[in-house]
Amino acid sequence: MKEKEPTIALIVPCFNEAASVAGFVERVSASCDAANARFVVIAVDDGSTDNTYQAWTDQVEVQQNLNIRVIRLSRNFGKEIAISCGLHHCDSDATIIMDVDLQDPPELIPRMIEAWRDGFDSVIAVRSKRESDSTLKRASAALFYRLMGRIADVEIPAQAGDFRLLSKRLVLALNAYPERTRFMKGLFATLGFEQKLLYYDRSPRAK
Ligand code: UDP
Ligand code: MG
Repeated sequence: MKEKEPTIALIVPCFNEAASVAGFVERVSASCDAANARFVVIAVDDGSTDNTYQAWTDQVEVQQNLNIRVIRLSRNFGKEIAISCGLHHCDSDATIIMDVDLQDPPELIPRMIEAWRDGFDSVIAVRSKRESDSTLKRASAALFYRLMGRIADVEIPAQAGDFRLLSKRLVLALNAYPERTRFMKGLFATLGFEQKLLYYDRSPRAK
C-alpha cells in the first residue's frame, strides 16, 4: 500500500510585499513538486498598506495546484505575531516558517522534509555566510547573538533565522505558550526536542 502523503504547511508572514508574492509562489511550487507531500501555504498579511492581500488572493485564483490560504491581520503587529497567528491556524503534519522575499531559498524545503522524516522535530536553516547583508547588519547580528548567548539560559543557534521546519507536536507545544510578546527564536530554543541544522547561503532580498 502506498504511504499516505504528509501535509506540510508553509507559514509566510508578509508586510508590504505585493511585489514579492508571485515570484515566491512560483519558486515554492517548483520546489514542492520535488517533495512527496501535500502543501498548504498560509500567508499572513500583517496589516500591509500596499496590495499584498490582493496579490495573495490573485494567487489563490491562478494556482489551482497549490492550496493557498490567506489570513489578513487588522493592522501591522510585527513578524513574530504574524508567525504565531499562522501557527495557530495550521493543522499539518509539519510546518515550515519562511519569509516571502526569497531570502529563505524554497529549494531547501525537500531537504527539511527529509530530515523531519528521519525523526527530527525541528529542522533549522542556518546561514553559512551573510554576504548579502550590509556590514552593519552583520555586525549587529553578531553582537545580538553574543549578548543573547550571555543572558539567556538556553542556547539560540547563531545565524539561525526563523526559517525552519517544526513537527506537529512542536507546534502544539509552542501554541500552548501564553506569551503575548514573543521572541520566537528564544521560544523555539526553550522547548527542547531534537533539532537538526541545515546550512545554506542567504541571498539578497529579491524585491
Ligand atoms: N514582516 C512581517 N511584519 C513586519 C515586518 C516584516 O510580516 O512587520 C515579514 C516580511 O514581509 C518578510 C519577513 O517578515 O516576509 C522578514 O522581513 P524582512 O525581509 O524585512 O526581514 P530581514 O530579512 O531583514 O530579517
Ligand atoms: Mg528579508
